[in-house]
Parts: sequence; structure tokens; C-alpha cells
Amino acid sequence: MSNRAPVDVSQGRRGLLFIVSAPSGTGKTTLVERLVRVVPNLKMSRSYTSRPARSGEQHGVDYNFISRDRFDAMVREGAFLEWADVFGHCYGTSAADTEALLADGQDVVLVIDVQGARQVRSRGMETIGVFVLPPSAAILEQRLRGRSKDSEEQVRRRLEVARREVDEFSQYEYMVINDELDPAVERLEAIVRAERARVKLMRPEAENVIRTFRHAENTERKPV
Ligand code: 5GP
Repeated sequence: MSNRAPVDVSQGRRGLLFIVSAPSGTGKTTLVERLVRVVPNLKMSRSYTSRPARSGEQHGVDYNFISRDRFDAMVREGAFLEWADVFGHCYGTSAADTEALLADGQDVVLVIDVQGARQVRSRGMETIGVFVLPPSAAILEQRLRGRSKDSEEQVRRRLEVARREVDEFSQYEYMVINDELDPAVERLEAIVRAERARVKLMRPEAENVIRTFRHAENTERKPV
């Protein structure tokens, strides 16, 4: 957006790795799509999946849609940073794609389930986890039924999995309750900007500023 402050990213640093997890139907994908539109230098990772594309979804945009055989081959090749079987389909994050973005200094958001998040953490990678909750179980159920892309059986399964997933929230650093979209996006944006303002990331810029103080001090001390 044009009236926003310019990029608050330290130049030349490695990107930050954010993980956003939430029970299915919480609206995390919509939230993160909005987030990456308002925050510069932040990319949403594009996962690989063996699930067939739903109507309106595009290969290379929503997901990289691949066959189950290809997915299994990628697992064997060690191509995934993490992968999981979610509701009977496989989903995975490419290790190479993620590394290329991070090495390029881009901050990356992985929108992955709790199993995937556990795998990334267990690799010892530094991550910033955000758990998104719906306002209540009843509202989640309403949303799942409202989007009407699932059968009754699928809705019940998603709710059952959600009940287990919400217990994992304490493994994450931040929490967003997705009651209304705008405040939830603002909170996510605040999290990204706060993480970017940490002293350890700002050190090179801070040192440039500190140097100007030293320079001023030396000039003052010089005999005239
Ligand atoms: P959907 O089929 O509705 O697009 O996604 C189903 C679930 O798979 C969601 O909870 C989503 O977060 C998860 N998911 C999507 N991509 C990945 C991925 O690359 N890894 C993991 N572990 N989960 C993913």
C-alpha cells in the first residue's frame, strides 16, 4: 500500500521462517493471502499436494498438484522440508524452494498443519509459529458447513481433527483468533513487523547509526 512505511527489512540478511497452522475451516489461507499482499518481502510458500485440484484452483498458483507416485518419489528423494497426510491426501513443502527464498532474504510463511510444523521444528530450524483459532467450536462447525465443499462425513472428520489440533497451540509463539478478517490480518502483520524489529536482525543497521555517534564524538574532541 502506498501510504505505508517503506520496507522494514534488514538488507542482506537471511529470511525469517513463519509457520501458520490452524484447524481446517479457520480461514488461515485467506488470512495469509491478505497478509502477503500488505507486507513487502514476505512470500507464502506453495506446497505440493497429491490431492486433485478443486474447481477454480490452478496448478502452480494454489498448489503444485502432482500425482501420488510423484509425491512418493519426492519423499524418497528427500525433497520435502516437511510433509504430511492430511484427510487422506499428501501435502509437502519443498526444501529447495524454501531455502532459495530464505537465502534470497525473503521472509517465508508456511501454511501447514500441526504435523508439518512439528517436523520443521524438529529439524532445528528457527521458526516463528502462529496458531490461528476460530472464535469457537460452534462457529468453526458453522463455517465448515457453510462452505459446503465437504460432505457431512468430511465435516465431522474435520471437526474431530480440529479438536486434537487445538491442543497444540502452546507449541506456537503467537496466537490469532480469527473472529473478523481485518483485525486478524492486522494482528498477523504486527507479528511479522515485530519479529523483523528484533535487535539481532537490526544489528547491522543499528551499528551504522551507532558509528555516526562515535564519529560525532571524535569530531567534538578534536582540538580546533
Ligand atoms: P486443503 O486441502 O483444504 O487445501 O488443505 C488441507 C490441509 O492441509 C490444511 O490444514 C493445510 O494447512 C494443510 N497443508 C497444506 N499444505 C501443506 C503442506 O505443505 N504441509 C502440511 N503439513 N500441511 C499442508
